[in-house]
Amino acid sequence: MSVTSLKQLEKHLNLTQDELSWKEGPLSVPLCITDHYLSLIDPDDPDDPLRRQVVPTCHENMTDDAESPDPLQEVPHSHGERLVHRYRSRVAFLATDICPMYCRHCFRRRFTGNMMGPATERDINDAAAYLGSHPEISEMLLTGGDPLTLSDSQLDHMIGVFRKASPRLIIRICTRYPISQPDRITEDLVAMFKSHSSAPFYLMTQFNHPRELTEKSIRAVAMFVDAGIPAMNQSVLLRGVNDNADTLEELCNALLFNRIKPYYLFQGDMVSGTAYFRVPLRKGMEIEQELRRRLSGLAMPSYTADLPDGGGKVPLCGSYIIKSEDKEKGSWTFRTPDGGIRTITDPQS
Ligand SMILES: *Cc1c(COP(=O)(O)O)cnc(C)c1O
Ligand code: SF4
Repeated sequence: MSVTSLKQLEKHLNLTQDELSWKEGPLSVPLCITDHYLSLIDPDDPDDPLRRQVVPTCHENMTDDAESPDPLQEVPHSHGERLVHRYRSRVAFLATDICPMYCRHCFRRRFTGNMMGPATERDINDAAAYLGSHPEISEMLLTGGDPLTLSDSQLDHMIGVFRKASPRLIIRICTRYPISQPDRITEDLVAMFKSHSSAPFYLMTQFNHPRELTEKSIRAVAMFVDAGIPAMNQSVLLRGVNDNADTLEELCNALLFNRIKPYYLFQGDMVSGTAYFRVPLRKGMEIEQELRRRLSGLAMPSYTADLPDGGGKVPLCGSYIIKSEDKEKGSWTFRTPDGGIRTITDPQS
């Protein structure tokens, strides 16, 4: 079950003025919070970092000039409504626009929650034909929306069609179900994925705060990992949610301990109505440097921006190179994370 209106939500939380004055606009994702997630929110804390991710406020109604509905230019890179081919070797397939719970920071709000529903047979066949004629594509992100809103048999069918067109296609299952509604993850669901054994699957989660790693969520992810499907996490750096090194250190270590590799930490995209979530780059990079000092290589995510106008992903880290290639000596000078200076010299011949 879930809560889908401010009226219902008022029974659970004491809503603030900012929350009560939210207006649903053409680009807003619907209000929908699962009971599981709602139970994790502290009703007495208006600044609860979980509340901030799912309860809309009037700040969402403000658009900053630099923002756009589609900053990653997914639409011009799309083939049909559902297939985004932005990088040569991989595609994203938007299996559905529906999610069990909507994140206020959703970057794909041009598409998410429009209630168009699952991809049609034609969308699936068109995407499969595209895979067949583009052998350079080795990976597919099954995303949306949340693809696990589809039934096991719908997913089984869809994956069967894609793997028939491209048997060695690696499929990433991009979902927030382990966080929003962990009981969706069943032995049957995992067995269905496993039955498509011609290529691997990866589970891509989006844990943004350590409190989202509940016992149930951990068990849901463990079912995939135990079945040989590795789990990777893509967090979004969000103001008022996780924009400090202590929270992210705790999150990344807890993820790693539960066999979920911290993969990306995304800078918020410049999507309409999300300015209040974005963290200034300088602050983001300071947090990244601090995390690099504290975390193991395995626990460290790559802080990354997906550049506007479809520029693609670039790593965001302060440079450790002080002086690049000194032509005479063939040497490069670096600063160490602790503030020292070191030099690497290229081979003489
Ligand atoms: C981010 C993204 C990918 C995957 O990129 P990786 O760096 O391989 O994780 C693929 N397609 C689209 C459209 C993306 O936005
Ligand atoms: S789960 Fe993903 S697609 Fe759905 S609202 Fe959240 S960020 Fe958007």
